[in-house]
Amino acid sequence: MSNLTTRPRRLRYSPVVRDLVAEARVDSRMLVQPHFIVPGSGVSEPIQAMPGINHESIDRLLETAAADLDLGIRSLLLFGLCEEEHKAADGRAAFAKDAVVSRAVERLKQRFGDDLAVMTDVCLCAYTDHGHCGVVVGDRIDNDATLPLLSRMALAHAQAGADVVAPSDMMDGRVAAIREALDGEGLAHVAIMSYSVKYASSYYGPFREAAHSAPTAGDRKSHQMDSRNRREALLEAELDVEEGADILMVKPALAYLDVVADLRAAFPQPVAVYNVSGEYSMVKAAAERGWIDERAVVLENWHAFRRAGADILITYHARQALAEGWL
Ligand SMILES: [Zn+2]
Repeated sequence: MSNLTTRPRRLRYSPVVRDLVAEARVDSRMLVQPHFIVPGSGVSEPIQAMPGINHESIDRLLETAAADLDLGIRSLLLFGLCEEEHKAADGRAAFAKDAVVSRAVERLKQRFGDDLAVMTDVCLCAYTDHGHCGVVVGDRIDNDATLPLLSRMALAHAQAGADVVAPSDMMDGRVAAIREALDGEGLAHVAIMSYSVKYASSYYGPFREAAHSAPTAGDRKSHQMDSRNRREALLEAELDVEEGADILMVKPALAYLDVVADLRAAFPQPVAVYNVSGEYSMVKAAAERGWIDERAVVLENWHAFRRAGADILITYHARQALAEGWL
């Protein structure tokens, strides 16, 4: 006879009991599907390095968003692309009157209203001719000269009807600058989801193809965080909270779950993770070769994000997961 009183396996025999006691769950309402919007109409072009994800013009985006909403995807994050001839040193096309993201926001809100939470990425790198995230002076990005431009971009998105603007540039002080610009124009109700802890990561590779945003020279290590640092993440998040950030984001997700857990413990604000392009493409590539079970791996990753403390999952797998009934 055994003298064991505590047997954790008792709760593992039945699938129903396992579900009953599961600590981390994922729900379609916490998923955010990213979109890459291009000028023109009738455009839906696959992004080679991200199977299942397309560049879409606004008319096609509306169709996709409608189908996604039927699946249960209620939040989306928009990235804009810019024709090469409209790129400039100061990225002015980002906040031009006819900017593709602002027009997409208008159309989405006209059609779907409050059924959809529309979030927009705010950074200049897809709109600058040098591909950097801000104004370049000499061989540096000028932090403070970049802030007014980011504010104009965020303001344009908010005026178009965005529910949430999401600065991803990693300039110091940008959340305060954007908050002030929005409040000054009667847009105090628009939320800021800050890419508070965005690492200079090699997992962004496929995104650079998607957003046509690779710098022509140099890298992003002068503004994005060093992947060796953990404590500094708390400093970045604390500054953003002081400046008025409503949601804090950690990007990338998988390799930074310690940071997600730290933010969860330190702040009451919702924490989002961005399950980035490289993380998506690695799973896709291995699944295509039959090396992993895609559904099982995606759910394992999502549950890891939830276990670490994330409330919001920004993921390229959202549509497929819901279309194929993974949840
Ligand atoms: Zn950028």
